[in-house]
Amino acid sequence: MRLNGDRYELSGEIDPLYLCNKYGVPLYVYDTSIMERQYKRLSEAFGVPSLKINFACKALNNITVLKFMRSLGAGLDTVSIEEVRLGLAAGFDPHSIIYTPNCVSIEEIELAIEAGVRINIDNISTLEQIGTKHPDLPVCIRINPHIMAGGNSKISTGHIDSKFGISIHQMPHVLRIVDAIGLKIEGVHMHTGSDILDVDVFLEGAEILLKIARHFKHLDYIDFGSGFKVPYKTDDISTDIEELGEKISERFKIFCSKYGHDLTLMFEPGKFLVSEAGFFFAKVNVIKQTTSTVFAGIDSGLNHLIRPMFYNAHHTILNASNPTGKPRIYTVVGYICETDTFGVNRLIPQLHEDDVLCFLNAGAYCFTMSSNYNSRLRPAEVLIHEGKDYLIRKRETMDDLMKNQVDIDIFQEKTKNA
Ligand SMILES: *Cc1c(COP(=O)(O)O)cnc(C)c1O
Repeated sequence: MRLNGDRYELSGEIDPLYLCNKYGVPLYVYDTSIMERQYKRLSEAFGVPSLKINFACKALNNITVLKFMRSLGAGLDTVSIEEVRLGLAAGFDPHSIIYTPNCVSIEEIELAIEAGVRINIDNISTLEQIGTKHPDLPVCIRINPHIMAGGNSKISTGHIDSKFGISIHQMPHVLRIVDAIGLKIEGVHMHTGSDILDVDVFLEGAEILLKIARHFKHLDYIDFGSGFKVPYKTDDISTDIEELGEKISERFKIFCSKYGHDLTLMFEPGKFLVSEAGFFFAKVNVIKQTTSTVFAGIDSGLNHLIRPMFYNAHHTILNASNPTGKPRIYTVVGYICETDTFGVNRLIPQLHEDDVLCFLNAGAYCFTMSSNYNSRLRPAEVLIHEGKDYLIRKRETMDDLMKNQVDIDIFQEKTKNA
């Protein structure tokens, strides 16, 4: 969103307040031009013969967004059978979907196998069971390289106590199973967590993964997962994708020449592709001055955008109704009866009741983490593509809240003083 005079505008010169009037608030808006910019930046950073970028479905699972990702040439990274089915519904070829579950049932993995998608296994017992039943099915294995990475402990997945992946120290056991069954390992994978800042930490993980990859003779691809950090504040540091791309590509090419043939280099970003493409708009219901604080209470809460409460994520908050007003200090809170703070002591152009706020970086893990807590309805989603706006998810209605409830009628009212 850029400032044009005293108004914000989205790409294609679309006025965000026009969208808020047309579709109502709270509202999620996604911009395909930003997704495309990020996709191109990532693909151009790597100079290897074969590169595949799989969009992490859990970041933003709207089927129209998935179709857009497919049109860019992306594959899809999925973590549940439901995400696999969304991907198929969006028209992805089963072979361009990779399924990386954790702690799911064998029955669910069987369903993914039936669907024909690539299977990524992250547990030895699962490898043994699936391998015995499907000895001819090439699979990928997820490694835990035991490096500490990621913005905080809730999103770091590669450390020693993590439940994700097969420990590098268990490789002898893995090899024993692979040899005994005659399994073909088509890929090795790691995903050490979201928000990796440091190119060197990434390379350290890559080095460990490549060392393990040497053991397998039938590889098709090596999947370095994700964790690319994007800026959430103006002065935030983000992963230097170009530097990372150059270093990984160089290392990968050396590996491939020693391995004997070219493999596909894979990544599976969520945040990097869609975080900055999303905008969340919500109205200020009340300005409440207490003894110590000026609260701006908005028409939303952790039910719509939980990242600030869930892992202290910082989302920049703008006043879309009064972009050039005099900045004042506010604590922005929601209407949920629970800790529901979006931001403390934020400098925001002076707010009035009914002003519309805009939360930046609302593309990844925002709508997909929303809920009906406090019996609230989920907002609509709108896509901006080539200067036009499209409704891509309807706002929920009371019927959606009621739809699966079974209203049984078995209670007699107790009459008083009977
Ligand atoms: C969540 C997840 C991703 C995406 O992570 P981002 O930080 O959004 O890029 C990639 N791979 C796996 C296996 C994941 O679980």
